[in-house]
Amino acid sequence: MGKLKNHLLFDEDQALCAIQLGDLTDGSAQVEAWCNRCGHYRMMAPEHLIKRLGPQVRVPEIGVHMECESCNSKDIAARPVWSEPAPFLMMAAE
Ligand SMILES: [Zn+2]
Repeated sequence: MGKLKNHLLFDEDQALCAIQLGDLTDGSAQVEAWCNRCGHYRMMAPEHLIKRLGPQVRVPEIGVHMECESCNSKDIAARPVWSEPAPFLMMAAE
């Protein structure tokens, strides 16, 4: 049971990492980003990010292109979030 669950989590994590901005344009998803240094947190519309970065950027890579508006750190993490919570996202915390 535990083994199966871990396997599923791993697959979903991989899928999450492969999501590109262009996959999030149906209006049901947003991108959340946070600063690893000061914890500053922000939600952004995918359309806004596509205008700046293009649709082929993978969501976890967005942080590379951003800078914290609070502390100017470039250590930013990003991931997609859906307005209808997906169960695996709630279990994804490390
Ligand atoms: Zn910061």
